[in-house]
Amino acid sequence: MAEKLMKFSEAVEKYDPVIGLEVHVELNTKTKLFCPAEVSFGGEPNTQLTPVSLGLPGSLPVVNKSAIDYAIKLGLALHCDIAEWSQFARKNYFYPDMPRDYQISQYDKPLNGEGYLDVELEDGEIFRVPIERAHVEDDAGKNTHVGGADGRIEGADHSLVDYNRAGVPLVEIVTKPITGAGARAAEVAGAYVRTIRDIVRALNISNARMEQGNMRADVNVSLRNSPDAPFGTRSETKNVNSFRGIERTIVYEIRRQAAVLEAGGEVLQETRHWDEANQTTAGGRVKTDADDYRYFPDPDLVMVHITKEHIDELKAQMPEMPRERRNRLQTEWGLSDNDMRDIINASALDLVEETVKAGASPAGARKWWMGEISRTANENDTTLEELSITPADVARVEALIAEGKLNDKLAKQTVSGVIAGEGTPDEVVAKHGYEVVQDTGALEAEVDKALAANPDIVEKLKSGNMKPMGAIIGAVMKATRGQADAKTVTGIVMSKIK
Ligand code: ADP
Ligand code: MG
Repeated sequence: MAEKLMKFSEAVEKYDPVIGLEVHVELNTKTKLFCPAEVSFGGEPNTQLTPVSLGLPGSLPVVNKSAIDYAIKLGLALHCDIAEWSQFARKNYFYPDMPRDYQISQYDKPLNGEGYLDVELEDGEIFRVPIERAHVEDDAGKNTHVGGADGRIEGADHSLVDYNRAGVPLVEIVTKPITGAGARAAEVAGAYVRTIRDIVRALNISNARMEQGNMRADVNVSLRNSPDAPFGTRSETKNVNSFRGIERTIVYEIRRQAAVLEAGGEVLQETRHWDEANQTTAGGRVKTDADDYRYFPDPDLVMVHITKEHIDELKAQMPEMPRERRNRLQTEWGLSDNDMRDIINASALDLVEETVKAGASPAGARKWWMGEISRTANENDTTLEELSITPADVARVEALIAEGKLNDKLAKQTVSGVIAGEGTPDEVVAKHGYEVVQDTGALEAEVDKALAANPDIVEKLKSGNMKPMGAIIGAVMKATRGQADAKTVTGIVMSKIK
C-alpha cells in the first residue's frame, strides 16, 4: 500500500522539519565491553563467546578499560563534557538476540554529556549540530530470518541467532533536536554522520563500515508549522545503515508527514524501518514516551570514575581531527576551496594524499582522482577504492607524463587500462605500445606530410595566425595513433614555417 507523499519542495515550504539522530558506533576494541571474548567481524557464528556474552546465570561483567578510553576520545572529539562519575544501567526488554533480557547501557549518568559537532555542507557552509550525550552500551547479537522473501521476519520459516556481536561495545551519540536546517535537513544529517565516520576513523576506535553494521543510525523526523511553533510528533526510523539511506529516510519522512498533516491527519509516534528495496519507510510498532524499560543502575557494575588527569592524558593522545587535517593539506597543496571541497565530497582525501606521498603533484593527483577515475566510478556505480587503480599507479602515470613518455591522451588510455584490470601503468603501456614517439625524425616526416597536405594552413601560420595549429597537431596525432607529444610537434611546425 503506497503512502501519500507531498512534493518535497512544497513540504519544506509549508513545514519546518526537525530531526534527531541516534548514531551507534561499534568500537574496535580487541575484546567485548564486559568480558574477554574477541571482537571481530565475520567469524563462525557463536564462536566469540564467554558466559558473560551469553548472560549465563552467575556470570559477572567487568568493564573494559580500553572501551571507556575509546568512548572518552570520541566524547572529546565531539566537545562533550566528560562525566567524572558515570554509571551503567539495565535497560530491560526481551529480544531473542539479547540473551540477558536486558541491555547494559547508561541512563541518567552517561559518560559523555552535552557537546556539539560542526559539519561542513556541500557549499562550504558550517552547520553546528548540538549533541545531547554519547553513552556507552553493549550490542545485541544478530538474528537471521531464513526462508522469507527479503530476510525479514515476516514470511520466514525459522530464525537463527548469532551471539558473536552480543556484548561488543557501542557508543550511542544522541543529538538534541536539530532545528534550522529546513530544506537541507537531509544534507545536514548526511554530513553529520559522515563527519562522525571520519572522526572515529581518525581516532582509530571503530572500523566505521556502515555496510558491516559498525555504524547505524536511528533517524527521528518531525514537522511543525513554523520555526517558532512547538515540535511536532516524531517518527523514528530504526537502524538505517547507509549514508544515502539516512538522507532518503529524512526526505521520505518529510514528504510523508507533510501529506498526513495536509490531509488533516496526525503523525503517529512510531518506529519505522527503511525499506531499501522500495526506497520508502514502513510503519513498525507504535511507540509512546511511556515505553518503560525499567532502567535501574546495574548492581553488578561499579560506577566509572574518570579523573581530570586521565582526561588530560587522553587529550594528549588525540590525533589530528579531520577538519584540521583537511585545512593543513589544503595549505600544503595550495588547492582552492572548491577543489578541496570536491575532493572531500568525493571521499577522495586519503587517496589524493597517498598519491601525493607516492610522488605526484597535488594538482596532478587531484586531476586524476576527480576526473577520469571518478567518472569511471560513477559510471559503474562503485567507489574510488573499489576500482583496481591505486595511488601508486596514479603517481606512476604522473611520473611517465613528467618524463615525457606519455602525453595527456596516452595517460588517459593508460589509466583506463589500469582500471580495466590490465595491470600496472608500465604493463599497460608495454601491452598497448602507448609510448610517446620520441624519434623527432619520424615526427618531422609526419609534420612535413601534414603541412604539404594543407597549404592554406601553412599560409595562415606563416602570416602569424596560429589558430589552425591544432589541425596540424591533430593530423600528426592521427598518423601516430595518438603517440606524438603535442609540444614537440608544435616546436617542429614552428621551425618549419619560419
Ligand atoms: P528514544 O529513546 O525514544 O529513541 P531519545 O531521547 O533517545 O528517545 O532520542 C530521541 C532523538 O530524537 C534525539 O536525537 C532527540 O533529539 C530527537 N527528537 C526528540 N524530539 C524530536 C522531535 N519532535 N522531532 C525530531 N526529533 C526529535
Ligand atoms: Mg532511540
